[in-house]
Amino acid sequence: MIRRYGKPSGPLLTLKSNFFSDNDELLDEQLQLAALYADQPRRTRCKACDNTIDKVAFSKLGVDYMICPRCGHLNGAHEDSDAFCTAVYTDAAGAAYARAYSAADREAYRIRTRDIYIPKARFLVESLAALGEDPGKLSYADLGAGSGYFVAALRSTGLAAVRGHEVSTTQVALANEMVGEELIEAHALDETLALAGRLQANVVSLIGVLEHLQQPRQLLAALKSNPSVSYIYISVPLFSPSVFFEIAFPDVMQRHLSGAHTHLYTETSLDWTCREFGLRRVAEWWFGSDIVDLYRSVLIRLAQTEATAGAAAIWQDMLKPVVDGMQESLDNRHLSSEVHMLLQFESKT
Ligand SMILES: [Zn+2]
Repeated sequence: MIRRYGKPSGPLLTLKSNFFSDNDELLDEQLQLAALYADQPRRTRCKACDNTIDKVAFSKLGVDYMICPRCGHLNGAHEDSDAFCTAVYTDAAGAAYARAYSAADREAYRIRTRDIYIPKARFLVESLAALGEDPGKLSYADLGAGSGYFVAALRSTGLAAVRGHEVSTTQVALANEMVGEELIEAHALDETLALAGRLQANVVSLIGVLEHLQQPRQLLAALKSNPSVSYIYISVPLFSPSVFFEIAFPDVMQRHLSGAHTHLYTETSLDWTCREFGLRRVAEWWFGSDIVDLYRSVLIRLAQTEATAGAAAIWQDMLKPVVDGMQESLDNRHLSSEVHMLLQFESKT
């Protein structure tokens, strides 16, 4: 098992500076989405294991959350219905969503690829090599490719057989423009499962994708049934300290459990998923943004009143040097807000 922990927070703080400057507007959008989400039908089954769920553990921004008694998955208490997904991904809010994941210009795209996505691609390639594979001889498909950052990153590590698949035609156009090759294809949302079943790729990546799908379990089943897919490389958000910081700071933009994130994985719900779909954990990289969230939450709270504003700069100087060390101690205990995992289908080895 290949395990890596931690990642410097510097690039994230630079890229997400709008989280600090636009707190009130971003929080406002989230409150609207939370109200819409709370209006959807009740969720009765766990997104990870399909067990019955009904007991509310806590509420946040007016939304109830339930912890699955069987696998430990954190579920929002409502369905991510068609109406909700349409609002999040394609309506006015959807435009905001696409904006958050696209780049203002080529330079921003290049920097985001270099700082955020190339490390993810390198970890995949290094892990495959450590497992005895020749990464250059394998083929790769990135599902939910978005603006193509991960495809660009895979290409820049020298891999030849790389394709991306994405439902948003706006994002596909941007992705191919930025990558400089026609590597990303558009497909209809209702073709996702069929596509997963017939992809010609040895490695399928799902970077920040599983948690956004209405049917994540069906997608995993389709990939399992596809004989050419040996590995899946996932990145998912986790039920971690960030959630508690968000509960404690309701006036601060909620990066983690809000908007399109209606449920969060746990190490136990990932283990359940692996057992059910015949996957083995072969490499993982635990790093989170929990302490950046804590740093930001306190900073924004301090700046909100005149009496406390003087403490903001002192807090900044005090915390910034220790953010990475504090986060790494969470990461080492698998208490990160995110994990990357390379999983191998046991039946296909
Ligand atoms: Zn469950």
